Amino acid sequence: MDRNQSLDQLKNYDGYWDMVVIGGGATGLGCALDAASRGYKTLLVEQHDFAKGTSSRSTKLIHGGVRYLQQGNVSLVLEALHERGLLMQNAPHLVQNQSFIVPNYDWWNGPFYGVGLKVYDLLAGRLGLGPSKWISKEETLARIPTLEPNRLRGGVIYHDGQFDDARLAINLAQSIVDAGGVPINYMQVVGLTHAGRMVDGLDLTDALSGESHHVRARVVINATGIFTDASCAWTSRPAVP
Ligand SMILES: Cc1cc2nc3c(=O)[nH]c(=O)nc-3n(C[C@H](O)[C@H](O)[C@H](O)COP(=O)(O)OP(=O)(O)OC[C@H]3O[C@@H](n4cnc5c(N)ncnc54)[C@H](O)[C@@H]3O)c2cc1C
Repeated sequence: MDRNQSLDQLKNYDGYWDMVVIGGGATGLGCALDAASRGYKTLLVEQHDFAKGTSSRSTKLIHGGVRYLQQGNVSLVLEALHERGLLMQNAPHLVQNQSFIVPNYDWWNGPFYGVGLKVYDLLAGRLGLGPSKWISKEETLARIPTLEPNRLRGGVIYHDGQFDDARLAINLAQSIVDAGGVPINYMQVVGLTHAGRMVDGLDLTDALSGESHHVRARVVINATGIFTDASCAWTSRPAVP
């Protein structure tokens, strides 16, 4: 992945990109990889480093969502556990097995969390990261010595995934290049051009050189996450003939 090469590709192409994605976080990078791997001519622009926004500041869990199970959203948990397993299989350098302990202070905690987390294991199927199990008060305290021992009855240990979010983003950007797409960082969207009521291009500013660029796009995806409101400040002008 070479920014100068990406920049040349951006400057030397005057036609329409099939898809331009704004934002190089997890969402934008995922969209761009999907598009590029389907053969679409794809450009992704990120105003800072890839994953500089929310996507490098997460809790770094690649989890199936125990709390969604508690909410009864089984299909979401199934999907998330499947994705967790695939990421572990496809990118073991990014994901590791992380065990958690739920301490039990009430008589019903053991059966409640024990059964719930067994269901979580079952839903993960062969992509599971290890069986959950009930552990004694002594083992719970040995593993977490700072727990309040008074009224502690035991704990339930279960497994989820921990991942390197920023490195995943860089690997996604590299995969976009491998798939024929063009991701470029330090390239800020400052305006949109319109053909009638349709967006047909973007005005860009290179944050490193200060140079301005214009690109044409058949489809624009705004994947700017929490920065989306700022897109209201982008300039708007008619399409470049
Ligand atoms: C505290 C916290 C903990 C979390 N923990 C987890 C977790 O453990 N596991 C998990 O899977 N998820 C977790 N999440 C959720 C996850 O981090 C987010 O869903 C994800 O990072 C959102 O990615 P995004 O690409 O939508 O947004 P972002 O990563 O914010 O990407 C948006 C990008 O758009 C760029 N941008 C904005 N304006 C422009 C412009 N004009 N031109 C060019 N680029 C622009 C920004 O610079 C930014 O890089 C957590 C979230 C939070 C807040």
